[in-house]
Amino acid sequence: MSKPIRINLSLGQKLSALTATILLGILFALYLFYQGLAASVMQEKITQSRSLSDAGLSIIQYFHSNAQTLRLEESEAKEMAINALESMRYGDNGYFWINDRQGVVLMHPFVTDLLNSNQINMQDIKGNFLFRDIIKTAVEGGGQVEYFWPKPTIATPFQKVSHVVYFEPWDWVLGTGLYFEDIERDIRNYAIAALCFGFVFSVVLVMAATMVTKKMMYQLEDMAIIDALTTLHTRRYLLENIDNMVARHERQKEFFLTAIFLDIDHFKKINDNFGHANGDKVLSNVGKMIRQVSRPDDLSVRYGGEEFVILVLDKDEQAALHLAERICHTAKHTVFNKDKQKFNVTLSAGIAHRLVDESIFDTLQRADENLYKAKTGGRNRIISS
Ligand code: GH3
Ligand code: MG
Ligand code: MG
Repeated sequence: MSKPIRINLSLGQKLSALTATILLGILFALYLFYQGLAASVMQEKITQSRSLSDAGLSIIQYFHSNAQTLRLEESEAKEMAINALESMRYGDNGYFWINDRQGVVLMHPFVTDLLNSNQINMQDIKGNFLFRDIIKTAVEGGGQVEYFWPKPTIATPFQKVSHVVYFEPWDWVLGTGLYFEDIERDIRNYAIAALCFGFVFSVVLVMAATMVTKKMMYQLEDMAIIDALTTLHTRRYLLENIDNMVARHERQKEFFLTAIFLDIDHFKKINDNFGHANGDKVLSNVGKMIRQVSRPDDLSVRYGGEEFVILVLDKDEQAALHLAERICHTAKHTVFNKDKQKFNVTLSAGIAHRLVDESIFDTLQRADENLYKAKTGGRNRIISS
């Protein structure tokens, strides 16, 4: 069986990878949004041009049906319909035009030189006979036609899609259309707005994620180096800082670097007799006592279970012993309660001074051995060497 490939990444690298994945996800979502947006805007515009050509057709039908009521000759009704439609504009480049079934341009608001001329053979830049397509589509019930045509303000042809309808009583083909470029510009504007929103959202997201992550990392670091129950530092903190302590001792060789091992006596019995919660209370109190008597430069930690270690650097050889005596004395005279029962605890301690050039771990080992001697010697005592 082949071994699974393991990639070792630091927490920071993992978080960066996660952030990058989220950002890629947002970019992909924006891309999908853009695709959907482009399709729906295009569809909406085409529907709009169909509605507009239907509205234009209603105007023609109005003048046709009401010619008699309005006391108009047919030619006058046609002229009024043409006038009404010729002046109508919408959107950026939206307008109406009319030609007949033969291809004669009857109304066009911009390309006036084509008026009354037959354009049935006109071809656009792609070679399409656009008027033939327009007439065929209109006569067959109306619909969309694509071709190239100049914009009202620009003479060069642009691709457009027009909706055309046929009004048989007057043999009129009415058309109105949209330029692809205008639609694409609208889509681009929507996309830019979405991109800006996406960018701001991503920046805020990344900033918030970074802040939360940093906070979590600080909390995790604290959890690793601060013991929650006693609020003393942990064994890990001791190991991370022990070299500094030794370096300080090397700089101040006349000082004594002393290791104290402290252990609560018969703590198992405390748990058994007074409950685990009261055991915790005792641990927390002993922790408080150690914090109160140690100085900021001492390294005092909860080494494990009900065991504590203090490293003391002092020019007084007896300083560590006095510190241990104070802690043991305070612990012995602190009274705990469980319901109406009162109890107290005693501590045993082992002390060892670091010898010249001795490894600090050997010093700790000797202090631990002294603690063992204190235990076997009857507990509630301090053994120093
Ligand atoms: P000795 O005098 O020889 O040190 O005896 P002891 O009972 O104190 O030592 P032992 O190692 O037999 O038992 C230590 C006990 O400390 C066992 C364990 O359940 C308890 N203990 C360790 N950590 C905690 C803690 O966080 N809370 C509580 N309540 N008890 C703990
Ligand atoms: Mg113990
Ligand atoms: Mg122990």
